[in-house]
Amino acid sequence: MNRTTDLLKIRELLQRRRRDILLASQGAQRELTSLKDQERDPEYEENAQAELADYTLSSLMEAQRREVMLIDAALRRMDTGVFGTCVDCGYDIPTERLEALPFAIRCEEDATRHELEVRGGHQATPTI
Ligand SMILES: [Zn+2]
Repeated sequence: MNRTTDLLKIRELLQRRRRDILLASQGAQRELTSLKDQERDPEYEENAQAELADYTLSSLMEAQRREVMLIDAALRRMDTGVFGTCVDCGYDIPTERLEALPFAIRCEEDATRHELEVRGGHQATPTI
């Protein structure tokens, strides 16, 4: 297996995942619509249930939207040929890392450093 084959495999995974998310959110929406369409006595508990379903769906969809955005960004990076390259050091991100974290834009070392810098705020000294 070479790098190109690996990246193609990841691309397929991302595209499949994207399709799955979109199908799942369509299904959830259909379910909620049919739940709302059912004529019921306007009892408090059922209203609360519908509200909960609404809330669950919107937070679910929010998470799905975010993931689709991440997938799209990764696919765009593939199209422009920068996918799998660390944005900090410019070296290839190991395939194992990409398979586990296809949205990774940094190698493990730089990701750790970046995280420390973000957490440390402005006082953190960048190590160059
Ligand atoms: Zn790096």
